[in-house]
Amino acid sequence: MQNRFTEDSENADYDGDKNIMELLSPAKINLFLQVTGKRQDGYHELLMLMCCVSLYDTVSLEFGAENITVSCTAADVPEDESNLAHRAASLFLKTLNRCEGVNICIEKRIPVAAGLGGGSSNAAAVLTGMNQHCGNPFSQSELMDLGLSLGADVPFFIFGKPALASGIGEKLEAYKKIKPLKVLLIYPGFAVSTAEVYKKINLRLTNCKKELKSFRFKEGGFEADKDMCNDLETVTASQYPEITEIKALIWDQGAEGVLMSGSGSTVFGLFSDADAAELARQSLQKGNIALRNSRWKIFLADLLI
Ligand code: ATP
Repeated sequence: MQNRFTEDSENADYDGDKNIMELLSPAKINLFLQVTGKRQDGYHELLMLMCCVSLYDTVSLEFGAENITVSCTAADVPEDESNLAHRAASLFLKTLNRCEGVNICIEKRIPVAAGLGGGSSNAAAVLTGMNQHCGNPFSQSELMDLGLSLGADVPFFIFGKPALASGIGEKLEAYKKIKPLKVLLIYPGFAVSTAEVYKKINLRLTNCKKELKSFRFKEGGFEADKDMCNDLETVTASQYPEITEIKALIWDQGAEGVLMSGSGSTVFGLFSDADAAELARQSLQKGNIALRNSRWKIFLADLLI
């Protein structure tokens, strides 16, 4: 089985003696997100280009516990049964009919409810790590099916590679036509409810299809200056004008493309020149963030391609 969490030793560290596994749980960005329709059950159908970035939570699993417990360094993340990592462990053990527990410890660096998929990534890390610990009883595609019942983005994180996603996000096809790029992310310091954004979307007013002559990059390769579009951006930005303000600031720093990720609130810019990206980070950190918006958090990461 191949995946972002356990494939290479960089991302997973397993101390067999202590029964502790440490996993890197990355954030994702949406380089393209088009809402294509709405299903009868209320879920929206999407066409997305998704890619992980090198901004990570650390998820530690301590095996051999009696119950499932979760502790998390972020105050706004629940530590009870509603935590997605807890739900993932519970689903995994129930499906295997195993009566045991696991202590899960999450060191949060990915901003919460920010369009970066942190909770789904944590759930995927737990499923992947527990599967490995138990000798891989589930294939990757079985694990992705399990993950889908926890959230539409969970299968993507188990898949672990840049992907074109369709359906509600669960139909994944590996996408290889992305160049290495630097990603400058700005989290404006407020959470956005994904459910609220989808409630407000007006399918007649979505614009990705019109702007992009539908999905050019599927064949031609992804180009930051031509192919970035997110149908949810105008919905979130109409409620939070800071999104538009941050976009303009990142454009001013010479980014090749700038977009909000998922349903927001994080905005990111893409740079092919690493030095230019670092200069942009420093300039924004010193200028806007130091002077006016100490709520904002800035990160410089790589696309994980
Ligand atoms: P969505 O998947 O809804 O688009 P997102 O990527 O914008 O989410 P997340 O950081 O995953 O944002 O958080 C969404 C919600 O899930 C938050 O309200 C948070 O309290 C809750 N949550 C539950 N478990 C976790 C977790 N392990 N990490 C982060 N958030 C979690």
